[in-house]
Order: sequence, then C-alpha cells, then structure tokens
Amino acid sequence: MVGSIAPSFQSGYVGLIGKPNVGKSTLLNYFIGRKISITSHWPQTTRSRILGILTRPDAQVMFIDSPGWHRTSHALGRQLLSIAKGVVEEADVVLTMLDAVTGITLEDRRVFEHVQRSQRPAILALNKADAVNKSRLLPLLQACVAVGCFAEYVPISALRGDNMDRLLGELIRRLPTGPKWFGAEQQTDQSTDQLIREFIREQVLRVTRDEVPHAVAVLLDEVVQRPAVLLIRATILVARPGQKAILIG
Ligand code: GDP
Ligand code: MG
Repeated sequence: MVGSIAPSFQSGYVGLIGKPNVGKSTLLNYFIGRKISITSHWPQTTRSRILGILTRPDAQVMFIDSPGWHRTSHALGRQLLSIAKGVVEEADVVLTMLDAVTGITLEDRRVFEHVQRSQRPAILALNKADAVNKSRLLPLLQACVAVGCFAEYVPISALRGDNMDRLLGELIRRLPTGPKWFGAEQQTDQSTDQLIREFIREQVLRVTRDEVPHAVAVLLDEVVQRPAVLLIRATILVARPGQKAILIG
C-alpha cells in the first residue's frame, strides 16, 4: 500500500526452559488460555516439544514448552536434556524459569550457564512467587540479579496469573518484527489426537503417582465424535508387567 506505514508486528519463538516442575506447562497453559500441555507434581511429564501460540493484534508469540534439564543417567533423562538444549537453539527469546520455593539449585545453575553461552536474549521468571514470603523473595531476586546473564528478572505466579502481563510485555518487546505465521484461532501445533493422548497420560501419572514412572505410552484405537461427546478407546502401554498390574489395580 503506497503511502501507508505498516504497523509493526512482532513475532517469534519464546523457548521455555527450566528444571522439571518449575511451572513451564502451567505458564504455557495460562498464556494460551487453554490446556495444551500437561502439568503434574511429578517431574518430566512433558515428553515431546509442544508449541503454544498466542496471538494479539500487535504480536504472535510461539512458546516452545520443553522438558526440564535433568542430571540423570537413564535414557529418558538424556533424551529430555537434548530436547531442552534444542529449545534454546530455536528461540528468539529464552524464558528461563526458576522455582522460587526451591531457590537456585545446581540444575538451575547449569541452565543459567547454558543460557549465557547461547547469547540469546533471555528473561528470568521467578515462578511460584505466591508460595513464598516477600522476605524470602527479595534476597532470592538479588541472588538472581547477581547471576547477571538475564535482561529482566520477573517474579510471577503462573498458577494465579500474577505479573504475567508484565512478563509477556518484556518477551514481546524482544521478539523480531515478523509476519503472522499462524491464524489467530490456532493455539497449538498439536493435533487433537496428540492432545487426547497427553491428557490420558496425565491421568495415568496422576492416579499411579510414581509407581508407574514415565514409561507410559498411549495409543488411540478409536476416536468418534458423537453429538455431545467424544468417544475414545485407547491402549495404555507400560514397560513392565508389574506396572500393568498397578495400573489395572
Ligand atoms: P513443568 O514440569 O516445569 O512443566 O511444571 P508444571 O507446569 O507441570 O508444574 C509443576 C507443579 O507446580 C504443578 O503442581 C503446578 O500446579 C505447580 N505450579 C506451577 N506454577 C505455580 C505457581 O505459580 N505457584 C504455585 N504455588 N504452584 C505452581
Ligand atoms: Mg511440563
């Protein structure tokens, strides 16, 4: 259009990183306004990379939810680690999350180091601020600022929505100018089948606690849309016969 100034539109990837259980999926679900990533009290429930898409008149943010960093030798842990590293590589802005209840742990320091090496613009969110006293939050905030590799330090509660507008503003400010990649109605790159499988897996993890760890896979046998309900038949796969017994019991 000759003579008109195109309004600037920011769009890009925000990579969520942080150790398991810091609240990455909770934050993603809050921003998207709909449950697209499973949350759990037990770490490492988000197995594959999930894209959450937030569209505003001035911006489109594509959040990449990643599994947390973990110092563990078993194969799943290693796989999670490599996915999480990939998230930073893909991100225009890195949103590192810290659990304000646990404070800065060794895992967090590893995450911080990786962020620093990546030289990506990065913001630190101190999550679960609702669950700690101000008298503890302030020194923690100072300790984080002392780490020094972040552009902003924002205490939030992803669960209650505290300070989330400010955080979003800081993220969007750092995204590049770009096109609207997805339609405003598209909130995730996950298919309905993938969402259903993840919800079933979440319920399995919830009812079995850590008796059936993360060796759970779900196969959908049948998904039928009836007028008022969605009819789902699924097979749950576990690693060992003992776990099958727990699940059925
Ligand atoms: P992830 O492993 O990093 O994806 O963490 P989740 O989003 O699955 O959250 C782990 C647990 O922390 C869940 O039980 C959440 O309800 C809880 N949680 C997440 N955000 C907050 C928060 O802001 N405040 C409190 N009190 N709990 C939270
Ligand atoms: Mg998660």
